[in-house]
Amino acid sequence: MTDCIFCKIVNGEIKTTLIYEDDKVLAFNDIDPQAPVHILVIPKEHISSINNINENNHEIVGYIYSIISKLAKEKGIADKGYRIVSNCGQEGGQTVDHLHFHLLGGRNLQWPPG
Ligand code: 5GP
Ligand code: ZN
Repeated sequence: MTDCIFCKIVNGEIKTTLIYEDDKVLAFNDIDPQAPVHILVIPKEHISSINNINENNHEIVGYIYSIISKLAKEKGIADKGYRIVSNCGQEGGQTVDHLHFHLLGGRNLQWPPG
């Protein structure tokens, strides 16, 4: 998608601090961190949101969670705890229409969210 910020990060048009990359996914630091650890994990394929996950592409979600599990250990937050957030749509607070998972940790996270 030509006008998608995260597709531009995938193809190198926008620079970011890469945490992890393979043929299917990318992980990078959020530009506006809300916690000491705030990493975005995205599929390289453009999927707009959770609303566009279906029987043909759902395997990427489990794969992304396996990468999240690995990154949480690497960042030293696996045992203390962390939160995964995937905002969907306007009322869900989604601002970038490319599926992404926030990995938030390194502080006490409040509940319920705002
Ligand atoms: P959403 O609000 O859609 O759940 O999350 C989008 C996230 O992307 C926000 O936390 C925002 O700070 C982050 N973000 C937006 N543009 C960029 C960018 O160009 N680079 C990086 N690294 N993060 C971005
Ligand atoms: Zn995209």
